[in-house]
Amino acid sequence: TSFASLPLSDAFLANLETLGYSTMTPIQAESLPPVLEGRDLIAQAQTGSGKTAAFGIGLLYTINPAWFATQALVMCPTRELADQVANELRRLGRSIANLKVLVLTGGSPMRPQIASLEHGAHVVVGTPGRIRDHLSRKTLDLSSIRTLVLDEADRMTDMGFYDDIAAIVKECPKRRQTLLFSATYPDDIRHATEAFLADPVEVVI
Ligand code: AMP
Repeated sequence: TSFASLPLSDAFLANLETLGYSTMTPIQAESLPPVLEGRDLIAQAQTGSGKTAAFGIGLLYTINPAWFATQALVMCPTRELADQVANELRRLGRSIANLKVLVLTGGSPMRPQIASLEHGAHVVVGTPGRIRDHLSRKTLDLSSIRTLVLDEADRMTDMGFYDDIAAIVKECPKRRQTLLFSATYPDDIRHATEAFLADPVEVVI
């Protein structure tokens, strides 16, 4: 299926074409129609499936670039993955003028992250420990979040991030869209789904 079947702007579709994205991968074809309607989603999909663009197009669809508030938050298990996701979001969002995507991961100095947050970022991609650190210092405000993404949720819970994730989700508005991606579906993820998602569409690839 072509991306042109989705309610995306001409500029956004033209950028997808320049990226060489002509047809949707299976995860994109199944996820994007309900996600663009605002539904919550739990998707079982591996790396390489195109899952980043599945949630990336979904969250970029709701971003208002004229509003300098953090409107989307993506949590990832590692800084490498957070960097990859942020780069993919920047490529996907090239048609959105002045879009700011900020990475907040541990192991990097705090001060430049705080300075970037003061300038404003539409999208924050990070690891749960560092995001929670910013919340407790009040350098990150999640009250304007519209889309929350938990990427590789099973890896995050395996790494002991469940409590951090729960604390972060509590700081997001109740009325939001939540997208959870996980390669496996252990008890922790079942709990997370029940606690953080509302009537989710389920996609298994
Ligand atoms: P991911 O599973 O998100 O790590 O994506 C795997 C790779 O597929 C990345 O290099 C993407 O840039 C690429 N990709 C994602 N969606 C598409 C698509 N619809 N057409 C072509 N390439 C894609």
